[in-house]
Amino acid sequence: MHAPLAPYAACDSNSRGRQYPEPPPTYRNEHQRDRDRVIHSAAFRRLEYKTQVFVNHEGDMFRTRLTHSIEVAQIARTIARALQLNEDLAEAIAVAHDLGHTPFGHAGQRALNDCMRPYGGFEHNLQSLRVVDVLEEKYAEFDGLNLTFETREGILKRCPRGKAEILGELGRRFLSGGQPTLEAQLTNLADEIAYNNHDIDDGLRAGLLTREQLLQVPIFRQHCESVVARHPSVSQRRLAYETVRSMIGAQVTDLVETSRERLLAAAPASIERVRENASPLIAFSDAMRSGLKELKEFLMTNLYRHYRVMRMSTKADRVVRELFAAFMGDPRLLPAGTQSTAIGSGEEAARAQVIADYIAGMTDRYAIAEYGRIFTPGVLT
Ligand code: MG
Repeated sequence: MHAPLAPYAACDSNSRGRQYPEPPPTYRNEHQRDRDRVIHSAAFRRLEYKTQVFVNHEGDMFRTRLTHSIEVAQIARTIARALQLNEDLAEAIAVAHDLGHTPFGHAGQRALNDCMRPYGGFEHNLQSLRVVDVLEEKYAEFDGLNLTFETREGILKRCPRGKAEILGELGRRFLSGGQPTLEAQLTNLADEIAYNNHDIDDGLRAGLLTREQLLQVPIFRQHCESVVARHPSVSQRRLAYETVRSMIGAQVTDLVETSRERLLAAAPASIERVRENASPLIAFSDAMRSGLKELKEFLMTNLYRHYRVMRMSTKADRVVRELFAAFMGDPRLLPAGTQSTAIGSGEEAARAQVIADYIAGMTDRYAIAEYGRIFTPGVLT
């Protein structure tokens, strides 16, 4: 049984609608339709072969951006339902939130941002929005997926002022303050819960982290010790899973309880009052926030800067930079469709954007294959 939505939840009747008006869906609400459009998109399918920390071919056991997005959706739905918020909107934002990521995770993003610096830079939140607003070519009547304002607002987690100015209503909160919907706020934190915990899990499995190292992190130690107290003879492998499971549970519970109190205190009468609030109403407790900060610092030092990850990042950086330079230097190297758009675009900045879109859309393995086709003499096709 679902409880009725809270008065400050997003719903069809308070939606700011779609850019191109369409008749309402028959069996779904507007945000279910958004979720379905994202799931049917080409960019969503490509998430299967894109990674965050580990390169896709390192092993089949690691998270990809696809499984990450599904984990975010599942955590976000739990939180939304517990707070009587719109579960469908949270899910739509979650499945779309990583669509604009480059191949090779953060390393790819940094490299493409550097390449695009003379033309305004590259930022993955903005690129996710560009995918759903412009790049998907599926509908006869419009470019993109024509998603609702609320889903697009949720995708745009961050935005520099210069870009916000050209985004109209969607960019306004980055210029004059204000918040997105509660569903966007909670999905943003569900993303954080998902990646902090699965990076521990993947890091342990890859042998990049050890449990002994992780015991330096108070939040991990607390949950690990409580699992051992309950199950003294548990195997090492199950201990790691149980610890991560317990950490996720504690973070979700903390987020729901803290947010519930904040919502009770602020008592926003409508979604508009939520948007006007000076700070987000969805939040972790101070204690949880500082525990997570320690965990993130640990992961930064011990996982993201691990030499094996750094070697992968260096290769990724080279692949992205060299592909970009090759295509900018000679757009005739681009495949037919992209080539005519790039050459037809006229100005250098517009050509750079077409090339950035092409590279950002690549999966890890496609980027590696494309690099081989262009730079390795032995690779002929
Ligand atoms: Mg994410």
